[in-house]
Amino acid sequence: MTDLDAAAQTPTQTNDALFSDVRFESFGMTEALLLGVQDLAYQQPTAVQQQVFGPVFDGRDVIVQSQTGSGKTAAFCLPVLSRLDASVKKVQALCLAPTRELALHVATEAARLARHTGLRVAPIYGGASIQAQIDALRAGVHFVVGTPGRVLDMYRRGHLKTEALRFAILDEADEMLSMGFWEEVTGILDLLPTPRQTLLFSATLPPSIETAA
Ligand code: AMP
Repeated sequence: MTDLDAAAQTPTQTNDALFSDVRFESFGMTEALLLGVQDLAYQQPTAVQQQVFGPVFDGRDVIVQSQTGSGKTAAFCLPVLSRLDASVKKVQALCLAPTRELALHVATEAARLARHTGLRVAPIYGGASIQAQIDALRAGVHFVVGTPGRVLDMYRRGHLKTEALRFAILDEADEMLSMGFWEEVTGILDLLPTPRQTLLFSATLPPSIETAA
């Protein structure tokens, strides 16, 4: 895995601190995805976005240290969405998040960015109607964002199919690989096909992350 230690700062501080002349237009993403970025009125990529796009777009695994507020969600969504094929109506990327709130945050941002691309994003989390989530998966979803328990449940029931999966992302990986989640999360990763790209985003880098990597 590639170790990236992306600075954890607010988007504004980050832009001042890092390469202020770097533009989203130079990343090499599709026009459709760029339109999504423009819809969100993001002027410049944050530090973590600048550092992560290239390696992920080029096919590498990454471990990234970054905090909420640094723009980390778009940092992994943009290169991953860039590499998904809208014409293949199968789940190609799975992001695991420790809470329903975070899963919804990631799914919302991904869906907004993907708005013009034809790619579909669905959140899968516990405590909400499973039937609506099953229906969303049946309709054809490219990028699933979910909490581990519900994701495992959907997989075991046969609603979440992973044969076309090429990206696994752990958001708040330190939480995801803590004792409470370890078995479920590593169990899910073991079910996913290889080769694939694995992206770990974490506020801290405890030994559990290195063990998992
Ligand atoms: P995150 O760290 O992913 O939770 O993002 C924190 C906030 O920054 C969210 O409201 C994002 O929509 C916003 N954001 C992400 N990237 C940028 C950017 N390049 N410029 C301005 N705001 C951004």
